[in-house]
Amino acid sequence: MVVPVPPPPLLASHVAVRAAASAISHGRRVLLNGDHPPQVAALGRGDWVKLICGASFEDAADVRNLSLVYTLAGVDCIDCAADASVVGAVNEGIEVAASIVPTVQRPWLMISVNDDCRDLHFRKAEFDPDDCPLDCSKPCEKVCPADAISLKHSMVDGERTLSDPLRGKYEGGVITERCYGCGRCLPVCPYDRIRAVSYVRDPTMTAELLKRDDVDAIEIHTTGKGTDMFNTLWDNLSGSINNVKLVSLPDIGESTVDLMNTIYTIMEPHFKGYNLWQLDGRPMSGDIGRGATRETVSFAAHVASMSERPPVGWWHQLIHC
Ligand code: SF4
Ligand code: SF4
Repeated sequence: MVVPVPPPPLLASHVAVRAAASAISHGRRVLLNGDHPPQVAALGRGDWVKLICGASFEDAADVRNLSLVYTLAGVDCIDCAADASVVGAVNEGIEVAASIVPTVQRPWLMISVNDDCRDLHFRKAEFDPDDCPLDCSKPCEKVCPADAISLKHSMVDGERTLSDPLRGKYEGGVITERCYGCGRCLPVCPYDRIRAVSYVRDPTMTAELLKRDDVDAIEIHTTGKGTDMFNTLWDNLSGSINNVKLVSLPDIGESTVDLMNTIYTIMEPHFKGYNLWQLDGRPMSGDIGRGATRETVSFAAHVASMSERPPVGWWHQLIHC
């Protein structure tokens, strides 16, 4: 039987943490505008901040601890995988933060889904450790930033084989819930054993999550390669979306505003709550390669300078850092 390891002790006794979080929440409250939720006021001011746990990252203990710390830090939104256990972990982190600092702002809880499996956020690495030669130095394990690959040289016939490194086999592989699909491991495998498995979040499960009163918002990733799939997804979800929807777009050049117009036309008949556009620049590149932030800012500047303005909604640039 696998006994779950309890998360590490909380920082509840840390007076400095409480004082800092209280100061942040007080500072934000005095900046509120009218009757809008604080997150909307932050959007209006242009200092709305979102924690991205990862559309595919599903390690509940880490998600819960990140949510706790970033709630205390005053983020406006926590974006996580559209998975019931991950949503539960985010809410647990927020609740613990509120128990430490009762005045802390409750961030929006946003779940991320896709309309097309070609979106890089929705993939997992996969390989069979039985296919790994024992003389491989395991570069995949070293390069993974999420500690999502674990390989051990196993015993054979009850004896350790480490004295003969070419006997035995590797066991383990990708820890699926920790893999967020960054793709780093794919090119480093000298034997080409790793593949990326893409998926689309189940819209029925997503609709169920959206009906919960502790899920505030949805982020819909679209690749911009046609809107038929967005249309189908919206048909499945629109009846369940009551509050915030954020549409995440990559840079598709001069067609960007046309795409936004088409998507807006699809959403408009069932439009409720707030709408945000997220300009992604170079998707899934925040921690890979240089220049992602510059590309995002230049994408936003380009869209803002277009003579034909995109339809209503707040704009949010995803600044990768
Ligand atoms: S895709 Fe990225 S997160 Fe997933 S196992 Fe490979 S290196 Fe790790
Ligand atoms: S780099 Fe490739 S062959 Fe080597 S351990 Fe990793 S998956 Fe296996």
